[in-house]
Parts: sequence; C-alpha cells; structure tokens
Amino acid sequence: MLVLDKLSAGYGSTQVLREVTMAVPAGSVVALLGANGAGKTTLLRTVSGLIKPMSGRVTLDGEDITGRAPHQLVARGLCHVPEGRGVFPALTVADNLLVQSPDGQTAEATELAIEAFPRLGQRLTQVAGTMSGGEQQMLALARAYVQSPSLVLLDEVSMGLAPKIVDEIFEFLERLALRGASLLLVEQYVTRALAVCDYVYLLNKGSVAFAGEPAELDAEEVFASYTGA
Ligand code: ATP
Repeated sequence: MLVLDKLSAGYGSTQVLREVTMAVPAGSVVALLGANGAGKTTLLRTVSGLIKPMSGRVTLDGEDITGRAPHQLVARGLCHVPEGRGVFPALTVADNLLVQSPDGQTAEATELAIEAFPRLGQRLTQVAGTMSGGEQQMLALARAYVQSPSLVLLDEVSMGLAPKIVDEIFEFLERLALRGASLLLVEQYVTRALAVCDYVYLLNKGSVAFAGEPAELDAEEVFASYTGA
C-alpha cells in the first residue's frame, strides 16, 4: 500500500502540492483527477523520486520512501509510465524491452511484452521512433509490464490516441490490475478512469478536493474543479 501523508512539493520556491494525503491500497486502482495544472504530474513525479518533497511523507508497504532516488524505488517494484512516450526512439522494440528487463533476459522480456500487446510481436526489429503513437505507448506500457511491478504510476497514457487504441490500453490496464499490480492513474478520460477505478481523488490547485469511491463523486464537484469554479 502506498500512502502519502501531508505531502507538499513543487519547483524551487513554487509550491504545487499542498499537504496531500492519499492512499493506494494494495491491488487497487486509484484514479487521480483534476484540471490542467492541478498538480497530478507533480504528484506522480514526487512519488517516483524525481522531485524531492518540501514536507510530508511517502510510505510504501509501511516503509518510509520519502525522497528516495528513482532507481531505488524501481527496485521496490514501483514503475512510472511518464507523460509522453516513455520509450527510447532510436532503439528497436526488442532493445527497448531488453533495457527494461531486470536481468537482461531477452526471451522472457519479449514473451511478456507480447503477452501485454500481441501486435508488438510483429514489430520487434522496428526502430521504436518509427512506430505510430499508439504503438509507442503500447511499447511503453509493455516495458512496465515486463518489470512485473507491484505499483504502477500512469500519466495520461491514453492522451492523443484513437478511441480503439484507448480501448486496448484500458483492457491492458485491467489485465495489469488483475495480475495484482496497484495502479495510480492520471487520466483525461474521466468517465473511463471512473469506470475502472476503486477509489478516486480529485486534486484542485494542489489540494485534495474529493476522496472516495467513484459512485460518491459528485459531477458538479468535478465540473467546478475542472472549470476553476
Ligand atoms: P496537466 O494535466 O496539464 O499535465 P497537472 O495536473 O499534471 O496538469 P502539473 O504538471 O503537476 O499539473 O503542474 C502543476 C503546476 O506546476 C503548474 O502550475 C505548472 O506550471 C507547474 N510546473 C510543472 N512543471 C514545472 C517545472 N518543471 N518548473 C516549474 N513549474 C512547473
């Protein structure tokens, strides 16, 4: 279980997150919603160790991981799929998977990636940067899958993709969750995120404006938060 306790963070002297308290219970899918600039990306980056928090605590399965370096957190089973395509564009699909494989087990990594997205199987020798946006996102997600993570932070992984590809990505996320990974999902498609999540947090200007089950979320509250009302 991931717990954020009064976490504050930002850039230089600019504070973005304001005492955010939230939890991602083991095996659950948690959606993190909020308008542009609410601080969603900043929150994911702080959890994965890319930004040092100003104050507050982050614990993973009871262990204090506040301010730990990203590679230490990867070793603890945490995986961050960043905004944009998290792939090496100049490397082939196979090499992208190899880089991610914890012990350099090419065959196993490839097998797992194909299990995640079968169409990657026909593209193993293709240079990643020449694939479509959707295929690159599938590769980024397959790279996460190969690590068998226990907690995956997903930053707008469906952004700018065709609806059919978004369907495939959401089906994959459900399979990832069924395999036992907890997911913290930042997503522009609010309805899709609400359909798959167990809990939802709504960030408004860096503070938690709502925390609860998706059915309890008041549409007006979401609207107000997204429009800055
Ligand atoms: P979006 O949906 O637009 O990605 P977000 O909720 O993910 O929004 P963040 O990207 O976390 O929001 O940004 C929160 C605030 O922090 C914004 O005001 C943004 O301008 C600011 N910010 C983000 N990155 C930096 C940075 N590297 N340096 C300074 N300020 C930043």
